[in-house]
Amino acid sequence: MIAVTLQEGAIVLDPFSVRMVTGVVTLTLILLSCVSSRRLRSPFTGWWRLALCLFFAGNCAFLLNETSFLAWVNPIGKALVVAGAFRVWAGARTLRGLDVRAWQLAPAPLITGLASVADNAESGLWSGGLAYLGITAAGLAMAAGELWFAKTMQNRVTKFLALIAALTSLYYLGRAIALALEGSDGTSFRTLFGYAPAALIHVLFLVALSFTMNALSNSHLITKLRERAERDHLTGLLNRGAFLGLAAKELAGPASRQGAALILADLDYFKAVNDEHGHAAGDAALRAFATACTASVRSTDLVARYGGEEFIIFLPGATQQRAEAIAAGISHRMAAMADPDGLPYPTVSYGVTSTGAEAADLNFMINVADAALYSAKAQGRNRVVGAAAVEIPLRP
Ligand code: GH3
Ligand code: MG
Ligand code: MG
Repeated sequence: MIAVTLQEGAIVLDPFSVRMVTGVVTLTLILLSCVSSRRLRSPFTGWWRLALCLFFAGNCAFLLNETSFLAWVNPIGKALVVAGAFRVWAGARTLRGLDVRAWQLAPAPLITGLASVADNAESGLWSGGLAYLGITAAGLAMAAGELWFAKTMQNRVTKFLALIAALTSLYYLGRAIALALEGSDGTSFRTLFGYAPAALIHVLFLVALSFTMNALSNSHLITKLRERAERDHLTGLLNRGAFLGLAAKELAGPASRQGAALILADLDYFKAVNDEHGHAAGDAALRAFATACTASVRSTDLVARYGGEEFIIFLPGATQQRAEAIAAGISHRMAAMADPDGLPYPTVSYGVTSTGAEAADLNFMINVADAALYSAKAQGRNRVVGAAAVEIPLRP
């Protein structure tokens, strides 16, 4: 039960009860975060979960303030809370792709703890209080800055957390100023900056932190699932569905205004590779071909596994000549790659087509390239055939 005392007309909650409530809320947030994002291990989740644990541990240490262990638990509690604030900063930095070194995190809690001990921790709860409040405010302000400039998929959520962190930092700064001016028995330090409002702000910050952690984790998960849904499992290339969507968009976009080319590739006598050397050897050849493809094109080109042992490449801005040279280059690269078991990789046949400034329909281009590929097979395989030499019949 929360004990409430009336002091000079103001309602003041006793510190022990306030800390119990804060501790229960923090523990609930830790458990919820562990249960809800168990599968995802992003750097920020690690740092922020650790921050919640440190805040919880600091709070537990403060619960022993009324005991004879005050001289130990109070400096330790303050150091733990400061360590938590700086881990919030560390997590926020990872959102901007920035690292944090151990030496950057060590001084703040160390100085806080030592300041408390040096200030004769036995003498009172607020020994080294100025260092504790000031350094916590600094850690949270640094976290707010990092959060504000982080570019995440949940930009509004991270900006909101930045504001809450800034507000909490300002509050800690206000507490530090009140402590410096009035001492721990001052009226505003005991009311406006007392335990109850401080705990309220602290809990508000922790809830906002947990919510942001969850929202960002979900976004990461959705991105990973989307990536997985768009990729071929064996080769890591785009799959057919993702390719068709992206290539149609590219063909209608500015990069294809100068024209575009399309290559359809099919590994020769691939069934024989499986039959003679096993499915694993076939898979290795498919992966090797995918590697040769991605190494031969620009990062803006689209490479996909069209099905089985068929691949498709879309080259925005490329001419017919250039596309045919790229196809030949892929086969050279493939031939130069060594199979780990010493087996030769299969040869490849290509059908290549292109369009000029008057962008063609993607399906039409695929049909033309398919017809060219069919011709390459008919001419004896292991060759590149351009669409210009071919009429556009349907595949029998
Ligand atoms: P062609 O030169 O006319 O293209 O003959 P091919 O043997 O390459 O063509 P076919 O269509 O007869 O055989 C394709 C083979 O590709 C059959 C199938 O088992 C194999 N295949 C399809 N997907 C995979 C895969 O993911 N891994 C492996 N190892 N084989 C696959
Ligand atoms: Mg084949
Ligand atoms: Mg085939």
